[in-house]
Amino acid sequence: MAWKIPLSDIAMGGDEVDAVRDVLQSRWLSMGPVTEEFEAAFARYLGVKHAFAVSNGTAALHIAHAVLGISSGDEVITPSLTFVATANSVLYCGARPVFADIAGPDDLNVAWEDIAAKVSPRTRAITVVHYGGYPCDMQPILDLARDHDLRVVEDAAHAVGATYKEKMCGTIGDVGCFSFFANKNLATGEGGMVVTNDDDLAERIRVMRSHGMTTLTWDRHRGHGYSYDVTALGYNYRINEVASALGIVQLRRLAENNARRKRIAARYRKMLEGVEGIACPFSGKVDGESSHHIFPVVLSGDLPRAGLQASLKELGVQTSIHYPPIHLFTYYQRLLGDTSGSLPQTEFVGEHEMTLPLYPGMTDEEVEYVCAAIAGAAPGVLRGTG
Ligand SMILES: *Cc1c(COP(=O)(O)O)cnc(C)c1O
Repeated sequence: MAWKIPLSDIAMGGDEVDAVRDVLQSRWLSMGPVTEEFEAAFARYLGVKHAFAVSNGTAALHIAHAVLGISSGDEVITPSLTFVATANSVLYCGARPVFADIAGPDDLNVAWEDIAAKVSPRTRAITVVHYGGYPCDMQPILDLARDHDLRVVEDAAHAVGATYKEKMCGTIGDVGCFSFFANKNLATGEGGMVVTNDDDLAERIRVMRSHGMTTLTWDRHRGHGYSYDVTALGYNYRINEVASALGIVQLRRLAENNARRKRIAARYRKMLEGVEGIACPFSGKVDGESSHHIFPVVLSGDLPRAGLQASLKELGVQTSIHYPPIHLFTYYQRLLGDTSGSLPQTEFVGEHEMTLPLYPGMTDEEVEYVCAAIAGAAPGVLRGTG
């Protein structure tokens, strides 16, 4: 399907091509000096002590929970209105995700009040997601964590460059996780990053990323030893030099791209104001700065989403859903029992949210086209004539 306006598009140019060519000509493809440079640049950008590049955001989340010692019998409180990898990474550790509701149709982030209600003697951690790049209200969550001796993981897959009270998202909890999947604000195709300010956690992350081994192939290539020990159960979650080279260039573009996303989001908000049946969440003041990863709208209960999405598709506009709630998936229902009805706000948004196209290369005219398409289609869909 050739969309007139796709949901998302990469923002890359000649610098990325040059960076990849340099890696190929260097003849070193596996994790090495370019990755070290990417990690250093990323850590500097976030103002965090340690950053470890990994193969994808899911690997970052698995490592984060594993190094915090999350294991069988433990519970981790997370939102259900997120990508399934957030909860899967808890299951990888043998622990149980316990889902907390979002605040409501305007604030799609997990509600600290519901996190508080879900804390049990088995709770070990809270894993938050900065939905769409809008920062969660972290202070009450950090207070809860302190009071109950819980660790905090930030799934910052949407939130590279976002801030909460002047602090970079991903650096506020114990461990922060980023994804560089092809549609994320910083894209390397596949890739991710685990960040922390804790020296002990950092050492465990370093070892776990590469089979639990004490040295890397790159270290041995440089003549630093012939052998290695294995000190923990590890994984192969390494990134590669081509992805890291893309990451370095993409990081340089990030501020400008996020600024462009912000202007597009503001234009959407202005143009959709007063369109019946369409609300733009996060309308209140955000205590920080969003990275505007996606632009969600929430449809009124009487506006059928499928009909509107079909009408927009006819006009060449791709839309999406963020997210089908995790607790309603077949696999999770089989695992945790039928919990439908337990998260009313999440379930409402899961049924009525629609995500509009947003990417740095989107023009003002394209934003206007999408808004006109919605304003044109919505009344017909409401009347059942769309
Ligand atoms: C993209 C994403 C992930 C997973 O990242 P991958 O790099 O695709 O493994 C995890 N959580 C959220 C919220 C995401 O959007």
